[in-house]
Order: sequence, then C-alpha cells, then structure tokens
Amino acid sequence: MRGRSKLVTWSPSVTLVPTSSCFNHCGYCGFRQAPHPQNPLADALTEPEAQASLERRPGAQEVLLLSGEVAPQAPQRRPWLALLLRLSRLALANGRLPHTNAGPLSLHEMAALGRLNPSMGLMLEGLGPVWQRWHRQAPSKRLELRLLQLEQAGRLGIPFTTGLLLGLGESPRERRQALELIALLQATWGHVQEVILQPYRPPGLSPAELDPARCDELLDLIGEARHILPPEVHLQLPPNLWPRQRLMEALEAGIDDLGGIDGDRDVINPAYAQPSPQALARQLAAAGWELRPRLCVHRPWLDRLPSPLRQRAQAMAQQLDRPG
Ligand code: SF4
Repeated sequence: MRGRSKLVTWSPSVTLVPTSSCFNHCGYCGFRQAPHPQNPLADALTEPEAQASLERRPGAQEVLLLSGEVAPQAPQRRPWLALLLRLSRLALANGRLPHTNAGPLSLHEMAALGRLNPSMGLMLEGLGPVWQRWHRQAPSKRLELRLLQLEQAGRLGIPFTTGLLLGLGESPRERRQALELIALLQATWGHVQEVILQPYRPPGLSPAELDPARCDELLDLIGEARHILPPEVHLQLPPNLWPRQRLMEALEAGIDDLGGIDGDRDVINPAYAQPSPQALARQLAAAGWELRPRLCVHRPWLDRLPSPLRQRAQAMAQQLDRPG
C-alpha cells in the first residue's frame, strides 16, 4: 500500500430512478425496461413518489438520480431533461445534494444540470472489441462519445465520477488502457474525483460470490489503477459486489471509497444487498481503518462549485464533521 491514511469514505444516499425505460439495449443490462412505443416516459417518477423516497431516507445527503436514457432526437428528450432538473431541485429543496448519472448529455443539458448538481457521473465502462459487441445496440455507449462527455464535464468544471465495469470479457490490457485514458483526462481537467471499479454481477434473483481467482485478478487491477491514476482520484468499490471476507485486501490494494449506500438497496444489482455502514465500520475498525461519511462531492472539489452550491455543500460538509 502506498503511504496513505487508513481512511475509507462512503456516501449516505438515496437512489431515485426518473425512468428505467432506455433507448439503449446493452447486452448485460438487468435494469432497463423497453420504452413504451408512444411514450418513453410512461413510467416516469412523479414528484410525490420522489418526495416519499427522500422521506424514507432522512439521513441521506446524496440523492442519486440514476436514469434510463431517451434518444437525443426523440420528442421526449426535453420532458426527460425537465424531469431530471425538477428532481434535482426537489433534492436541494429537501436539504440534499443531487448527483445525476443519466448517460451522455448535450453541452446545454450538462451545464443546466451542473448548476444544480455538485457532482455528476458517467461510467466509461470499458473499451475494446468485447465491449463493442455488448454495446452493438447501445448508440450512446460508443467510447468516443463517452470520452467526449468526460472532457465536456471537465470543460464545465463539474466534479465527476466515472468507472469501469469489470468481468465481461475485456482483457487486462484493455482495462489498463481505459484507466490510462481516464488518467489523461484528469491530468488535463482535474475534475475526476472518483473511479468506480465495479465487478460485473449477472442479473438474477440470487447472489453469487465472486470466485477467488477473479478476486485475485481484480485485486491486481486495483493495484494497477492506484498506480495509473493520480493520487487525488478516489478508487471506489461497491461493497455488496465484493466478498466481505476479502474487503481488507481491496483496501490494502488501493480502494479508499465504498460509494453511495442506500439502506440495503442496490437498484442495479437487486440480488446483492448492501451491508450496513455500521457493520462495515466495525469490520474496518477491527483492522485499524476508519469509515467516514462524505458528500457526493469530495472535499477537494468543493472550491470548483458555483457559489450557491458551494456554500450549501460546504455547510453540509461541516455538519458531517460534527460529532454525533
Ligand atoms: S444505457 Fe444503462 S440502462 Fe440503458 S440499457 Fe445500457 S446499462 Fe441499461
């Protein structure tokens, strides 16, 4: 392990799904619903439903808006963006911070959301021929488009989360190449606050543990990622997708963030219940690590935010520091 503190962060969060209907059709996705032929927003989340979800999680400072996508030229694109903006405002009105992950956005769309969201996200996922096959029917998953999105977020100065989905057939070399591209973007724009290293888990009703050989391989990758990415970029591992008995090995290899935890729910991988932060904190403390809550925007990026958002996030960050 490089010389770093034994501090690991997580974000108390609540996930809202504006719509699970999506015009892409990624070959591995268990989240997507096929769009209604006349109205892709037929299943859109209503504000009362969103408000009820926020009230269910009063301690969640982060509101993760995780949305299926509407095609860029579709007539429903404007109402979809309006819904994302309304839900972002609702989060702020409830004293929370929205973090939107809704696929590629135009400059105008990203800028509008960036005025309300102190951080946003888009997975790079991966590169190479295997990913091209998985994304054959997913126009918004082209690598060039996603890299341009990361660059656009950098130009707009939006603190950003990206990541790789691991275990769908990509080679170790392709994983390294993807990390090198992210490192290059960070060197240019400095906005990449965290990179998620997400083991792929097949959709289904029952959880299946990662086998030891795959864990070993991913531990090697975590070490490589820590080496390739600049030290300020946090490395995130979803704790519900990784064997608990090997969590300390992942931290020793370079993981320093466990991401957003919304009770025991994971809307993308519903078979994999989240561990409780209290149980995680006990496990970490026994090995000399500290688990600490954070906001969706990590502290070093607070200064980049536009003034009203910055003041709000700074006040919330100070509140997190208060004991009890
Ligand atoms: S873009 Fe996301 S929601 Fe849509 S099909 Fe792909 S993985 Fe599923």
